[in-house]
Amino acid sequence: MITLEYPELLASAYAVQPAPPTFVVEDPANGEVLAWVGISDIATVRNTIEMAQAVQPAWAARPALERGRILRRIADLLMQHQADLALILTREQGKPLTEARGEIAFAASFFEWFAEEGRRAYGEVIPPPQADKRLLTVRQPAGVAAAITPWNFPVSMIARKAAAALAAGCAMVIKPAEQTPLSALALLRLAHDAGLPEGLLSVVTADRAGAVAIGEEFCHNPAVRVLSFTGSTQVGRKLAEASANGVKRLALELGGNAPFVVFEDADLDEAVRGALASKFRNSGQTCVSANRILVHENVHDAFVARFAEEVRRLKVGNGREPGVEQGPLIDAKAVDKVEKLVADAVEKGARVLHGGGRHALGRTFYEPTVLSDVTADMAVFNTEIFGPVAPLIRFRTEAEALELANATEAGLAAYFYTRDVQRVFRFAEGLRYGMVGINSAMISLPEAPFGGIRQSGLGREGARLGLEEYLDVKYLCIGQG
Ligand code: ADP
Repeated sequence: MITLEYPELLASAYAVQPAPPTFVVEDPANGEVLAWVGISDIATVRNTIEMAQAVQPAWAARPALERGRILRRIADLLMQHQADLALILTREQGKPLTEARGEIAFAASFFEWFAEEGRRAYGEVIPPPQADKRLLTVRQPAGVAAAITPWNFPVSMIARKAAAALAAGCAMVIKPAEQTPLSALALLRLAHDAGLPEGLLSVVTADRAGAVAIGEEFCHNPAVRVLSFTGSTQVGRKLAEASANGVKRLALELGGNAPFVVFEDADLDEAVRGALASKFRNSGQTCVSANRILVHENVHDAFVARFAEEVRRLKVGNGREPGVEQGPLIDAKAVDKVEKLVADAVEKGARVLHGGGRHALGRTFYEPTVLSDVTADMAVFNTEIFGPVAPLIRFRTEAEALELANATEAGLAAYFYTRDVQRVFRFAEGLRYGMVGINSAMISLPEAPFGGIRQSGLGREGARLGLEEYLDVKYLCIGQG
């Protein structure tokens, strides 16, 4: 069980075993039972939405400056309890403690950002085409928002949505992933400690079957005006279909298949560092992970040698142990998927330069793996891997690199490394992606708009645009007699 300096963080989920029905939360590193969490039934979910609807107008009526002060306090509390929150996160999700601490800081940065950004929900005064009219727009909170969040960033994905919704004057009901509800409950606890009114931000929890039922309720309940989802493209599509009837506003952050292109004029040390961070952060379980590493033939062997050497050095283990850089995958199913992808690639001619199998540490561990000679007909090229496998592909020309980079339905993040300033613009403009990292592999920041195009989703999170997801534009036309 988890031992914390501030055990109240888990009071609602962990300290007291709730009455059945419950589901179990396990440490992916060793299968240890961490907690039993209640399954919210649909009546509870409806009540939670109703409560959000009841308290939202008073919240919206408060000046943005006042709302911002509470958000700022949430950011401060997250940082004050960073160590405890990181421990909860590592225990239920598996990522190394240093990454978990980083995620808590990242989550806090969204509360900090939106605490300010809420004050800038500006309208416009529009020059009228007729002398007897005055035209203007105001932005108003959309009302109640619902969020469904994934297990790979259990705190920051909630923060990115909730901070924006609350700053805009909305209420939010969150359904965290069944693997990682404890981080969500801990964050909720701190939000209340910071002075957020009861009912304005809520967490409902469930196992996978319950998640489907709650998803349906979010899609069909007329009080929910915005549905924000981060997860697989497959589930995102289902939610889009189910919410069509109620014509709900959707924000969808779905899967990616990021190309990472290394041109011959790249700074190879930087490119190796970037590829390593992008590929192996969170053991490859991020939607902006480098999924296909394309390297120019003239630097291919030099890049591959350095990259494989760095991968060889990665320390695998329980995320709680000092120095560990690669934790477990989220569950045994995730390892099965990676194993199949590697087997398919090897069968079709890929070479294993490092790793390539299950790790001796047990059922949820997979070796950091480097595959060379990967081709577009392999499943590993066309699937979001979500694991510690780096596929390398050799290319000859910029045109070929662009074609390979764009050869996917996904359109979330892409990366490339070059020192040619003309290529920077040309290649960036040719990439069909919502986000492009140029000589930079870490691109997620609260100030910047995160989101994809094509099958990777709708809408943006963070930045000024993240606030807009929770605001309605109202146009006022005033006759001047
Ligand atoms: P993953 O496969 O990585 O778990 P999912 O897209 O399945 O990604 O899950 C992301 C989130 O969506 C989780 O909170 C999960 O509980 C939820 N979820 C999964 N299936 C459904 C569904 N059919 N309806 C609503 N929510 C769902």
